[in-house]
Amino acid sequence: MEKVVIIGTGCAGLTAALYTARANLAPLVLTGTMPGGLLTTTSIVENFPGFPEGIDGYELMTRMQKQAERFGARVQFGTVESVDLSRSPFKLTVDGEPVEAQTIIIASGAGHRHLGLESESLLEKKGVTYCATCDGALPMFRNQPLVVVGGGDSACEEATYLTRFASVVYLIHRRDSLRASKIMAERTLANPKIKPVWNSVVTEILDVKKDTVTGVRVKDVNTGAEQVLDCAGVFVAIGHVPNTQLFNGMIDLDENGYVIPKEGSATKVPGVFVAGDCSDHVYRQAITAAGMGCAAAIDAERYLAALNQ
Ligand SMILES: Cc1cc2nc3c(=O)[nH]c(=O)nc-3n(C[C@H](O)[C@H](O)[C@H](O)COP(=O)(O)OP(=O)(O)OC[C@H]3O[C@@H](n4cnc5c(N)ncnc54)[C@H](O)[C@@H]3O)c2cc1C
Repeated sequence: MEKVVIIGTGCAGLTAALYTARANLAPLVLTGTMPGGLLTTTSIVENFPGFPEGIDGYELMTRMQKQAERFGARVQFGTVESVDLSRSPFKLTVDGEPVEAQTIIIASGAGHRHLGLESESLLEKKGVTYCATCDGALPMFRNQPLVVVGGGDSACEEATYLTRFASVVYLIHRRDSLRASKIMAERTLANPKIKPVWNSVVTEILDVKKDTVTGVRVKDVNTGAEQVLDCAGVFVAIGHVPNTQLFNGMIDLDENGYVIPKEGSATKVPGVFVAGDCSDHVYRQAITAAGMGCAAAIDAERYLAALNQ
């Protein structure tokens, strides 16, 4: 039986692995289909403390894994297919095989909701991005027109943040008013650099042939009229999908599927803890996920210590 099983090897999972390994708990750490997590999909990370020149996302995650393994973490390629939290020890099914665990740390992350356009996936990282805080300051976006797609708080935050770098920010939204909170919507619309494009959807991101973003084709949902807006970047901010479906009905999730912690990193099931983007719809950064991983590891360690007294 495992003392600790960690679901996920992003910043949250690997930090939890480091801490639980250093506490001599020899955690079993499951990678899922994305070993190293979301950060491996970005080239340069400039805001993780300790790397003044920035660091390649893949390299950062490889180093985190090595650091955890040095103290005894066992990283295993495998996806959790189901969990039973109603029994003790807990039971997980990992690629068809049963695993028993005294504690579980859920660090399964959250994916970005995509527009679903072929041109979007072909131009990802070539001007299409899902995180203004991460990519907004890149030289390719400086003093250029940029597009943000969405109408909620995140889209407003992204658009406002991007006005620091962009010549103009087009905020494309399918409705005729923002979904964001009143104060956020007012602040956004008062910003002279933000130009809302109402009742509109992006139908194509240009230009796949040039292998870089040069603009977007936009359709008015009421009239069907199309226009092309020139831009150097498209920031898609239409929400996230937390990877928590496995736990539906077992622990508390909010209406969007994010885990609601009970106290610290604890969930309503004693022995099950949570960390990172799967329970964070506010900050969603590598360093905050790592911090939450640390907290979950300490909570799991204390829980086990009390259990085995
Ligand atoms: C393109 C891009 C660039 C970014 N740049 C930055 C940046 O510069 N700075 C910054 O601070 N943040 C950045 N971020 C955000 C950052 O990547 C996330 O905040 C961080 O990765 C969250 O870590 P996490 O461990 O919570 O989840 P993730 O990194 O999403 O990891 C989730 C892990 O869970 C695993 N998993 C999921 N389901 C299962 C399952 N059923 N069984 C087993 N494993 C499972 C996955 O395979 C993965 O290993 C960026 C994000 C993106 C997409």
